[in-house]
Amino acid sequence: MNYFEYRNGEMFAEGVRVADIAEKVGTPFYLYSTASLAHQFNQFKEAFGDVDLLICYAVKANTNQAVIKTLAELGAGADVVSEGEMRRALKAGVPAEKIVYSGVAKTVSEMTFALNQGIYQFNVESEPELYQLSSIAAELGKTADITFRVNPDVDAKTHAKISTGKSENKFGVPWKSIRELCTRAAALPGIKLVGLDLHIGSQITELDPFEAAFTRISGLVETLREDGHDISRIDLGGGLGIPYEGDDFPPLPREYAEMVTRVTEHLNCKIIIEPGRFLVGNAGILVSKVVYVKKGEEREFLIIDAAMNDLVRPSMYDAYHGIVPVVESSEESVLYDVVGPVCETGDTFATNRLITPMKSGDLLAIRSVGAYGAVMSSTYNTRPLIPEVLVKKNDFAVVRPRPTYDEIIGLDQLAPWLSE
Ligand SMILES: *Cc1c(COP(=O)(O)O)cnc(C)c1O
Repeated sequence: MNYFEYRNGEMFAEGVRVADIAEKVGTPFYLYSTASLAHQFNQFKEAFGDVDLLICYAVKANTNQAVIKTLAELGAGADVVSEGEMRRALKAGVPAEKIVYSGVAKTVSEMTFALNQGIYQFNVESEPELYQLSSIAAELGKTADITFRVNPDVDAKTHAKISTGKSENKFGVPWKSIRELCTRAAALPGIKLVGLDLHIGSQITELDPFEAAFTRISGLVETLREDGHDISRIDLGGGLGIPYEGDDFPPLPREYAEMVTRVTEHLNCKIIIEPGRFLVGNAGILVSKVVYVKKGEEREFLIIDAAMNDLVRPSMYDAYHGIVPVVESSEESVLYDVVGPVCETGDTFATNRLITPMKSGDLLAIRSVGAYGAVMSSTYNTRPLIPEVLVKKNDFAVVRPRPTYDEIIGLDQLAPWLSE
């Protein structure tokens, strides 16, 4: 469902004219829709019916406090991969007992923090991590509920940089070693093995890889129970893809949930899922202004005021994003290369894209940037991080303001021998 629609030729975000926000906030900026976040979350919730389900929003996709809080109020827990993310989730109102901790390199201080907060579960990814966690938990007199992240050796058929479930990837424990590791875990102080987890990659657009992985984890749960372990949870990770224009349509939550239920129902486990992109990806656009239209020898360039430092997905993952004018036109579309101001050829959002004719000062929107957009931005070229704005019905609020140049430059300090 799309919450960024044209009315009388002008783009609205829910009930607010996008051009009005641009006027108030200045370009470029990220713009998120509350209704879209809620719609996506409720789709998952409803798809699973009365399955015992915990939806842990993978906050790394978009860590803005307002976004996390919007989802938390709908009942979401959180999947975090750092102490910083855990602090953000707690601050936005996600209770510790709904937070799961993923990641291959949890440090002593991160584990200590999470244990002291009363985290729901650690998703343990290696044997050294298991021993580290055991010793910290025992020292604190606490018990860490853990799942082991299984590496199921399944090809998620997605971009290589976001594929995580093959045996050559750094993630998880090889599925063939799980049984032995669980035996060791059972003998350790401070550790309670409660289940298994996995996460095979991101922007997955077919059900087959999920099903292969979930079948593997289900088989392992049966084996572990035969070995005498009390397995009560399975955490299936995130990864469900979203439609970026030009993509095949990924499976719907209903289809995903049906498959999950078919593969896992007989186990009677609590199901945890960790969607990131699915919840927030299509809930955001990036609004930018055309600075110059430049006719090259072979191409026509739309040079816009957003750049790769604001949205890195096209240059990092060859990602396709729809680019549309904020004000519709009846003129015939022309081919543009849409580029930013950064001094790198990689600073390109699209090549040979059909867009209606644009001129300097016109606004355009880059679609489907709610996930892995703002969170991956940087201040490269000393470009201030761009504001984030949240819309709800007829209201909007700046949920992260644009920093001033003094704030950015003031983060640096001179070495003593350079000061006056
Ligand atoms: C990134 C990540 C997710 C979320 O992935 P999406 O593709 O955004 O749904 C979930 N779980 C883990 C462990 C992750 O690393």
